[in-house]
Amino acid sequence: MLFEHVQPNCVKVYRVLGEEGRQRVQLRVSMDQDGLHQGGVPTDPALLPLVTERPHWHECALLGDAVHYLPEGNAAERFDSVFPLMGNSGLIGLIEVEFSGARAAIRPHDANLVQGVLRILRNHLSALDYGERDTLTGLLNRRTFEATFAKRRGKIIAPAPPEEPTTPGSWLGVIDVDRFKTINDTFGHLFGDEVLLLIARLMFDTFRSTEMIYRFGGEEFVVIVDGTNEQGAAVAYERFREAVADYRFPQVGKVTVSIGYTRVGPADVPASAMGRADSALYYAKEHGRNAVRCYDALLRDGDIQLNKSAGPELELF
Ligand code: GH3
Ligand code: MG
Ligand code: MG
Repeated sequence: MLFEHVQPNCVKVYRVLGEEGRQRVQLRVSMDQDGLHQGGVPTDPALLPLVTERPHWHECALLGDAVHYLPEGNAAERFDSVFPLMGNSGLIGLIEVEFSGARAAIRPHDANLVQGVLRILRNHLSALDYGERDTLTGLLNRRTFEATFAKRRGKIIAPAPPEEPTTPGSWLGVIDVDRFKTINDTFGHLFGDEVLLLIARLMFDTFRSTEMIYRFGGEEFVVIVDGTNEQGAAVAYERFREAVADYRFPQVGKVTVSIGYTRVGPADVPASAMGRADSALYYAKEHGRNAVRCYDALLRDGDIQLNKSAGPELELF
């Protein structure tokens, strides 16, 4: 619509990923005289340019408003435009409009039109966001987890059985705050909620942005770690466990978490993977808390029995 109405040389739609301060920009689609172009498959987020790398992106992100700028290396009096797409938690996209030839810049009434469309889009996205996210922490909620699990499962490459600990794969970790009831009882629910918020922030800081973080209600969280083996997953979960243990929570002081995790197989359903991770979590709770335990390793070492109702071979639906 923008391309037809404003008649620029090119329109580019970017997605903005990651947390504030370290946000990166990924081209999703562009449109020019030759039509619509897909922006390529997502690569390693670390290779994408930072919002701060281009002055007009940076300014647009800081202002939260449209920026009109003189394109680099262009002698002609010409202005390109970049518009921010805002979500509930800040900048989520950028729309760039480039001109060439006789048209030197976006017309004011066209700029107003773009702003109007972006406002409608923002309301629409915020309605979608509300159903997907937990209102306290802003993390994805359980419903979203159930919905995306099946989709992700399709992408999991099945390791050749028997699965070795060194085989890369996907891992599901259940994180539970230790003695959280005591925190509530001692300091009150408000401080309990603050602890949950700070823990969610520590999750954003310690897990890579591609890893999926969910709040499962209460003081339970689920984090999916991809593309690594059993030891690599342990490193990721350990890093988080330590980050919490080292953090000084205001008023409350020290808080710890226990984590149980398991490999996610190609035939897994949420209930069975969760059941196995829960068994490992239960083991961690029974053996001193403030620890990370792997279901697959516990089973291998004979520390727990195969949980039939949560076995990897079971398909519930
Ligand atoms: P452990 O996990 O180490 O075995 O002990 P725990 O005390 O953390 O375990 P339990 O699951 O019995 O207690 C969880 C408590 O979390 C119970 C409930 O009062 C509290 N809780 C659940 N959701 C919320 C919430 O959203 N906010 C606050 N403040 N408390 C919550
Ligand atoms: Mg609990
Ligand atoms: Mg708990």
